[in-house]
Amino acid sequence: MATASRGSSRSRSARSPAPEVSVLRVGHRPGRDPRLTTHVALVARAFGARRLYLHPPDPELATRVGAVTARWGGDFEVVATDDWKSLLRTFPGAVVHLTMYGLPLGRTLPKLARHRNLLLVVGGAKVPAELYRRSTYNVAVGHQPHSEVAAVAVTLERLLGLPRPVRPGAARQRIVPSARGKRVVGEGVA
Ligand code: SAM
Repeated sequence: MATASRGSSRSRSARSPAPEVSVLRVGHRPGRDPRLTTHVALVARAFGARRLYLHPPDPELATRVGAVTARWGGDFEVVATDDWKSLLRTFPGAVVHLTMYGLPLGRTLPKLARHRNLLLVVGGAKVPAELYRRSTYNVAVGHQPHSEVAAVAVTLERLLGLPRPVRPGAARQRIVPSARGKRVVGEGVA
């Protein structure tokens, strides 16, 4: 299990096991868009990805996301990469570039679900042109411009299903779902 929250609300018994999914964020600008990239990381983690590869590296961001994982559970990791092309070459699975110019996600999904390992790639303000030809698939979540955060969330939900509630004991802190108000239990909670 990749993170404490990974898992599908839909039955998988009749299908092959869900792929292990990693996310690569290219074109991160340390100091300029830490919030957006942090949201890519948090969404990747919460929706069941195993890791975020971050290009270029940003140790402060990795530390912040690590603190979230330490508190809320799972084994999600942020892995720094200086060379996204080499990562694409050596990744042991299919590379799925999320872009509004690609083929529709709904149509591509059955093929993606057959892979054991997937690398979802999202860009920033400017996407390197070679990413289109170096990827196994170019996949669109609708053909309108929106955001890398939304593209990762929707794709992970379609691949892995909605995150499951965290089991008791699987994290330092967990939320007890409430119709009203906020209920958190675990270490350090008064
Ligand atoms: N002008 C950029 C380009 O060349 O594609 C758009 C960048 S957009 C602000 C940032 C990222 O969000 C894109 O690189 C892509 O990964 C993701 N994205 C935005 N809209 C998308 C869509 N409709 N489908 C899939 N991914 C999308």
